[in-house]
This record gives sequence, structure tokens and C-alpha cells, in this order.
Amino acid sequence: DPIIRVTSLHKRYRTDRLETTALEGVSFEIQRGEFVAVMGPSGCGKSTLLNVLGLLDRADGGSYQLEGNETVGGSEDHRTGLRKKYIGFIFQSFNLIDELTVRANVELGVYYHGIRGKEASRMADEALEKLGLSARGDHMPSQLSGGQQQRAAIARAIVNRPKLLLADEPTGNLDSRNREEVLEILSTLNAQGSTIVMVTHSDDDASRAGRIVRLRDGQLHASS
Ligand code: ADP
Ligand code: ADP
Repeated sequence: DPIIRVTSLHKRYRTDRLETTALEGVSFEIQRGEFVAVMGPSGCGKSTLLNVLGLLDRADGGSYQLEGNETVGGSEDHRTGLRKKYIGFIFQSFNLIDELTVRANVELGVYYHGIRGKEASRMADEALEKLGLSARGDHMPSQLSGGQQQRAAIARAIVNRPKLLLADEPTGNLDSRNREEVLEILSTLNAQGSTIVMVTHSDDDASRAGRIVRLRDGQLHASS
């Protein structure tokens, strides 16, 4: 079975009288262990798709099965449970909490699993070590470079060893050296078994993926 199976996914946004169709009948599968790039022009529905896959947003129609679990019609509790169990997120703007140390930010990823105290700190330090940030646990995010902040955000995303890693333009705010480093890390995580879905505008970034899914006007335009 695929880790992700979406069928005829539809999503509309309504604001007052204005209605925007963001996804219009999108269907595809992603197998366990794939590294998929999602590309397409601005406004074509990439972020919407990633938010639906991440169970942050809900489709209006169609089906989305994550590890065989139907999610579109499910309760919020069911969806939250699946999100915590299976999914880690990486964002363009890192989304670290400025008031918390780097270690405490990474521990947040552990708390979602109900783990606290020494065990949480141990897991956070292990993730930070993996990302080359062992010396930075007690720093505040503002004391880190952009590349280091994104690595801290990746540590937070992977500390629970999620099966599915969703990344929305993870290199969008990085210079070329840090961009390379983050792509290298994603490739390594993929080689270690994580399934990765990454939204990107960059052909260079997408060339790291095993497959490219292209959207246009909310529809699947190509998949190769
Ligand atoms: P992309 O990530 O490819 O730029 P988005 O998924 O952000 O595309 O947006 C797809 C379409 O849905 C666009 O027309 C956008 O303006 C619209 N849209 C996205 N989010 C919202 C929202 N919260 N409310 C209303 N319209 C939205
Ligand atoms: P990107 O193209 O980099 O993915 P966008 O600028 O399209 O980002 O969207 C940024 C945020 O604004 C997203 O969370 C999206 O859901 C929201 N958004 C996008 N378009 C609209 C819109 N027309 N109305 C309200 N919110 C929107």
C-alpha cells in the first residue's frame, strides 16, 4: 500500500462572495520512501495541497488516505492523532518560537507524543547532534544563522522520527551554501527511510527528488 493515496481531491476557499478553487480533482499516490517535489506557478495550489496532506487543512471533497486511514471525513481528534503519529513539518520561515531555547523548540516535537522531562531533553539533544547543532541547544533562535535555524527546525520535525516529512519551500529563505546543506540533510533523511514531500520553486531543489508532481490551476499537470 502507498503511504499517501489522494483521489479526486477538491478544495475551495470562500471569502464573502468570492470563491477560489484551490484544488480541483487531484489524484496521485506516493509510495513509502519516495522523495517527491511539488512544483507549479504561484497560486496553483501547492501550499493548499501540502496543508491538506499535513492534515492542517481539510479537503471539501475526494479522498485522502494516509497509511490506509481515510482523513477527509474524519473527526478533528482522529486527524490530530494521525498528524502527531506520522507527520513532521518544515516551513520556509522556520517557525521556531523566539522565546524558547533551541533545545526547548526541539522538545516541542517530543511533547506532542506525550514525552516529558529528561527523556524529552535526551531525544532533543540526539536530534540536535544529528543536525550538527550540539553546541547550540542553549542558544536562542535569534542567535543562530538562517541555515542553523532551519536545521533546528528540521531537528524539531524529525525528533519523533515521523514517517512523512512535509516541507514547504524549505530553502526559500536560505543562501546557496545553506540551501545545499538543507537539501543534503533531506536526501539523507530520505535515504534513512523518511518519505518526503517538498514544495519548491527551484528546479535545482527539485532535482534532488525522485519524482516531480506539477500542479497548474489546482489540477495535476504532470507527474514524472
Ligand atoms: P501556491 O502555494 O501554489 O502559491 P496556494 O495553495 O497558496 O497556492 O493557493 C491556491 C489558490 O487558493 C490561490 O488562488 C490562493 O489565492 C487561494 N487561497 C489560498 N489560501 C487561501 C485562503 N486561506 N483563503 C482564500 N483563498 C486562498
Ligand atoms: P506561497 O505561494 O509562498 O505558498 P502564499 O503567499 O500563496 O504563499 O500564501 C501565504 C499564506 O496566505 C498561505 O497560508 C495561504 O493559505 C494564504 N493565502 C494565500 N492566498 C490567499 C488569499 N487569497 N486569501 C487569504 N489567504 C491566502
